[in-house]
Amino acid sequence: MLREIFAPVCAGCGGACEGRLPVCSDCQKGLSGYGHFCENCGFPLKVHAKVCGQCLSGAGWDRIYIDYKYTGALRNLLVQIKFGYRIAGAGKLGELVRADFLQKYDIITDVPSHFTRRFRRLAHPAHSLAEFIAAKTSGRYEKVLVRNRKTEYQYKLRRRMRALNVKGAFLCDRDLSGLKILLVDDIITTGATVKECCRVLKKANAERVDVYVLSGGHV
Ligand SMILES: [Zn+2]
Ligand SMILES: [Zn+2]
Repeated sequence: MLREIFAPVCAGCGGACEGRLPVCSDCQKGLSGYGHFCENCGFPLKVHAKVCGQCLSGAGWDRIYIDYKYTGALRNLLVQIKFGYRIAGAGKLGELVRADFLQKYDIITDVPSHFTRRFRRLAHPAHSLAEFIAAKTSGRYEKVLVRNRKTEYQYKLRRRMRALNVKGAFLCDRDLSGLKILLVDDIITTGATVKECCRVLKKANAERVDVYVLSGGHV
């Protein structure tokens, strides 16, 4: 009886989901990635381009990897994690990461939790993802960014206010000279938070800052 109640259910189709994946294998196969990218920074685009608006506006990252579109089963799953319904799913999110293309980094880190969470929750998907990637690539997870001040939740703000809201919101109190950093988050929308994090990491002298995001809510 209890087993029935607590048996893992796929966030995409409601079917059984017993394996290591946070959604069933059919729903995993249905997740869609992107077909066109910026040649310079890797940002997904509607059509292929040599440079993109992100590069031109000083995105701060050297390279960005956005794995899947924020739709279907993945969207359902992330929403449920954010509402705290699926804490176990957060720990399994890493199984969806296609990390084979990621190079070796000195430090793998995440966007501080307050800035990514939309609702009060126990799970911090960006942290789970960062730890998973660290293990998978034999890298080291380390927390390098801390909150500098309290900010308004990003989702409450209009697009142009989001950059202002996060400006100066993070601190990195160590020198990252000579280090290649991978910054990890679970979802990107306007990119304001990630860009500000990159800016702070570069200011701390990071040699290279790449970004991995599980899902893109922008295209
Ligand atoms: Zn499913
Ligand atoms: Zn670009």
